[in-house]
Amino acid sequence: VIRCRAAVAWAPGKPLSVEEVEVAPPKAGEVRIKIVATGICHTDDHILKGSLPNVEFPVIPGHEGAGIVESIGQGVTSVKPGDKVIPLCLPQCGECSFCQNPESNCCQKSHFSEPQNLLPDKTSRFSCKGKQIHHFLWVSTFAEYTVVPEYAVAKIDAAAPLDKVCLFGCGFSTGYGAAINTAKVKPGSTCAVFGLGGVGLSVVMGCKAAGASRIIAVDINSDKFAKAKELGATDCVNPRDFKKPIQEVLTEMTRQGVDYSFEAIGHVDTMIAALASCNMNTGVCVMVGVLDSEISIDPVLLLTGRTWKGTMLGGWKTRECIPKLVSSYLERKFNSDLLITHTLPFAKVNEGFELLHAGK
Ligand code: NAD
Ligand code: ZN
Repeated sequence: VIRCRAAVAWAPGKPLSVEEVEVAPPKAGEVRIKIVATGICHTDDHILKGSLPNVEFPVIPGHEGAGIVESIGQGVTSVKPGDKVIPLCLPQCGECSFCQNPESNCCQKSHFSEPQNLLPDKTSRFSCKGKQIHHFLWVSTFAEYTVVPEYAVAKIDAAAPLDKVCLFGCGFSTGYGAAINTAKVKPGSTCAVFGLGGVGLSVVMGCKAAGASRIIAVDINSDKFAKAKELGATDCVNPRDFKKPIQEVLTEMTRQGVDYSFEAIGHVDTMIAALASCNMNTGVCVMVGVLDSEISIDPVLLLTGRTWKGTMLGGWKTRECIPKLVSSYLERKFNSDLLITHTLPFAKVNEGFELLHAGK
């Protein structure tokens, strides 16, 4: 058993509390990882607010991390102590029908098909003050050590800087893949990206890499526009600068609507605005943001031919593709370092959330 620090969410609506926890050794088929760096994704904020379904408290959040294998359980063959890895909030078992389908990345052995806050054997490796603490998405990267199933671990290049590539565990891969894999943005096309957080800015990068000729970045925080332009946005629009709905503004800017739109915020009104912003016939809208409520739309939006789809982690088959993304990063095919705005010591994790809330 390892004793180390972890940021525990004891109850919804409370800040995280950095505690000493016990992390049990990995059981058969599991890997214990020393987490070196983790990003903060807005999905972690959804947990703290209690707005994500199927999360049980107390829980250790965090799902955008990178680290080094500390020890392995019986039967683990794909990684060994000392390997650099990214724990995967969406695993790839390689055996289920979705893993076997080249078009799918939603492994059926994931907690999405079987919601749970424990490891696959229904037990936890975390405890604190005599209490069992739940895992989150099997990865719980807000802990100095975490235990995950082997099929939720991607071994990456030994040269990868962990404080930079932790973003590949969620935000960067999600946004970049939403453009490349889910929307399949074509060269010369026009895109609109709603929300310019870590995820939305990565969508901008993906649209650019796919050869889009016009990328319209939309955010109510104009401070985000300089970075969006640096990453490839050609136009930046703040909905608060207009009286009419943003979908009308975008439709006028592009005559008939964009080819691809992306919602990377997680609000009902912006989901509908993003859907209505893509052209009525061949437009594709990708839902990236996580909604915590139901949504109703005018069916005519789809009847005329639009496609509305969602993405999980940008459509990547994670174990296979995330190491390749890390290699592309090392070859400088894109610069995801531009997404990193602040670096804080672990004890200041709540300050990280304050910066997120402040739009910084
Ligand atoms: P973030 O908080 O860093 O960014 C959100 C951005 O949206 C901010 O820049 C904010 O100013 C902007 N915004 C808020 N309201 C707006 C409005 N009405 N109009 C325009 N812009 C508005 O969040 P993030 O970490 O980038 O995550 C974005 C969303 O993606 C979250 O809902 C998160 O849960 C979700 N997510 C989904 C997946 C997936 O696999 N589908 C993965 C990661 C994150
Ligand atoms: Zn995330």
